[in-house]
Amino acid sequence: MSTIQSRLPLSCFASFSSSSPVFLGSANLIFKRSVRLFSATSTPDQFGKHSFLLKNFNSLQNSRLAHLRITCAAISGEFDKSPDIVVKEKCVSVILLAGGTGKRMGASMPKQYLPLLGQPIALYSFFTFCALPEVREIVVVCDPSYQDIFEDAKEKIHVDMKFALPGKERQDSVYSGLQAVDSSTELVCIHDSARPLVLAEDVGKVLKDALRVGAAVLGVPSKATIKEADSKYFVVKTLDRKTLWEMQTPQVIKPDLLRKGFELVNREGLEVTDDVSIVEHLKHPVYITEGSYTNIKVTTPDDLLLAERILKPTSPKPS
Ligand code: C5P
Repeated sequence: MSTIQSRLPLSCFASFSSSSPVFLGSANLIFKRSVRLFSATSTPDQFGKHSFLLKNFNSLQNSRLAHLRITCAAISGEFDKSPDIVVKEKCVSVILLAGGTGKRMGASMPKQYLPLLGQPIALYSFFTFCALPEVREIVVVCDPSYQDIFEDAKEKIHVDMKFALPGKERQDSVYSGLQAVDSSTELVCIHDSARPLVLAEDVGKVLKDALRVGAAVLGVPSKATIKEADSKYFVVKTLDRKTLWEMQTPQVIKPDLLRKGFELVNREGLEVTDDVSIVEHLKHPVYITEGSYTNIKVTTPDDLLLAERILKPTSPKPS
């Protein structure tokens, strides 16, 4: 039994979809690795103020999440807001983070390699990025024992692929990936491989905003009411929902800015919670590009079910 097999959950069983060549390819890949499939049925910123216009509230068809669309307008004379800004072909380096252990999933292998409709989660965004004309290379940060998942997909992509070793924390993995990035790249696009459903259209938008501003991140307006509490669980205050955004990935940053940010953070031992906060420490503006609620991070088994329903909204509900 391979190391990977021995780490698989016992409750797994096969469930393939043959409706797409990608899924077929991944089914072969899964068989090749003798992996039994996880059972999905087993259950603003410093440069301007945002103005919010509640435009509409769409109940998405089928089982999709309700979508609250809010227009976000940045007020600044400093940045080129031209809609014609063009991110050139082959000028983006993607750092695909796949080095985590994903303990919250409760599976005995990292969540990003669990199959989602027959394909490892990490390969969804891998293929999305590799199909974008703006992308020149993809640096996959992963444990060497999982490299073959990406190596096996190599013939289907037309961008350079590199590997980097993961670090202890997510930021260490980003730093490791950054060392492998081509020196002439114009934008570094950092993505959590645990977000398989990112849309190419949203990636296109955040790339443009990052080129314009220097750093941009996909986010969605917070739907929940968020309260601040003290250490004894008493409410301190209710935050103004209109100003709250939930951050996603990709987070896109110009390479020099990211390098400078890392220098500062490392020198001063600053705390960073995500990639753009490295840039925030430099007091450089970070733009929030409105993304989609469907760009979920697969963290728990429930998220895996939700991801399935988003991908295949018409499939029968599990009984
Ligand atoms: O654990 P979390 O969900 O925050 O991880 C987000 C992403 O970062 C995942 O895709 C995970 O594989 C990656 N990661 C990494 N190296 C680490 C920790 C997390 O590449 N040390």
